[in-house]
Amino acid sequence: MIESPVIAFLFFIFGICIGSFLNVCIVRWPHEESVVKPGSHCRSCKKPIAWHDNIPVLSYILLGGKCRYCHAKYSPRYAFIEFFTGVAFVLFYAHYGLDPLLVPYLFMLCCFIIATMVDFGHRIIPDEVSVGGLAFGLVFSAVLPAMHQIDHGTLNAGRWVMRILVATVIVAHLGEILLARLRPAAKDDGEEDEPFEWLPWLIVLGAMVFDLIMDFGIDAVEAAVPASWVPHLLSLDAACIGFVVGGGSIYAMGVLGDFLFRKDSMGGGDVKLLAMVGAFLGWKSSILAFFIAPFFGAVFGLLQKLKTNDTTIAYGPFLVLGSLIALFFETDIINQILSLYGLR
Ligand SMILES: [Zn+2]
Repeated sequence: MIESPVIAFLFFIFGICIGSFLNVCIVRWPHEESVVKPGSHCRSCKKPIAWHDNIPVLSYILLGGKCRYCHAKYSPRYAFIEFFTGVAFVLFYAHYGLDPLLVPYLFMLCCFIIATMVDFGHRIIPDEVSVGGLAFGLVFSAVLPAMHQIDHGTLNAGRWVMRILVATVIVAHLGEILLARLRPAAKDDGEEDEPFEWLPWLIVLGAMVFDLIMDFGIDAVEAAVPASWVPHLLSLDAACIGFVVGGGSIYAMGVLGDFLFRKDSMGGGDVKLLAMVGAFLGWKSSILAFFIAPFFGAVFGLLQKLKTNDTTIAYGPFLVLGSLIALFFETDIINQILSLYGLR
C-alpha cells in the first residue's frame, strides 16, 4: 500500500540516484578501483562526465545512450539498474511504509544489486559488499531490535542450529586432516593447500562467545546493563547467530561436497554473502534462502548448459533471490511447511 504518492515519487528519485552510485561500484569494485576518485568519466575517451550529463536514467535517454564527446555506446544496463533501483525502493516503501526498518533493508538491497551484477559479470562477490555488509548488518541489528525475532524460543532454536553446524564443520575438517595424514599420497593432486585464514574463524568464535554470554549469562547481563539495552543486545545476538548459521550452512555444504565429491563446489563469496544475509534477516531466513536458492540455480544452470555448455553458474544471484523471497514471505512459507506436516 502506498500511503503517499509524493513520498513514493521521492523514493523513486532517491532510488535512481543510489542506483547511479551502485553502477559505479559494480564497474569499479571488481577491478579494485576507488568509487570516489576519479569522478565519473567515460571509460572509452576518459573525458569527465558533467553533472548535467550524469542525471540517472534521464541523461541516458537524452544522449541516446552515447558519450557526448566520443559517441561510444553505453550499455543500457546502467540506465536499467538505475531504474530498477528506483522501482525497488518504491516497492520497499509500499511494503513497509515510512518505517526505520527501511534503512537496513534498503542498504541490504543495494548490497544485493551489486553482488548480483558483479557475480554475473565476474563470478566474484566483492568483500566490500559481503564483509562490509555483514559489519553494517551487525551495527543495524544492535541499533534496531525490530529487525530480529528476539523471543527465547527463536534464539534458542537458532543457537542449536549454529552449534551443530559449527561442530559439523570442525569434525569434517579434523576428518580431512586425519585422512590426509593416513594417506599422504592421495592428497598429492598438484594443488597447493590454501593458507589457513584465522580472521573468519576469530569472528565466528567472537560471535559464539558473545552468544554463550547472552545464553547462560543472561541474568548477569540483565543485572549489569540498563533494562533498555537488553533488546538491543538480544538483537545483536540474533544477528550473530544469523550470520554464523547463514555462512555456516553454505560452508558446511561446501566441506561435505569436497569430502563426498572430491571437488571444490562452493565459493567463499557465497559463504560471506549468506553470512551477511543472516546478520540482516536472522537465522531462519538465511536457512530459507539456503534451501530456496538451489531451485532457481538449478533451472538457470540447466538453461545455461543448453545454451553455452558452461556448467558453472554464479550462485550469488540465486542466494539473493532466495533471501528476498525469505524477507517478504518468510512467515507464509514457514506456516505452509508447518501445516504440511500437520503441525499447525
Ligand atoms: Zn567518451
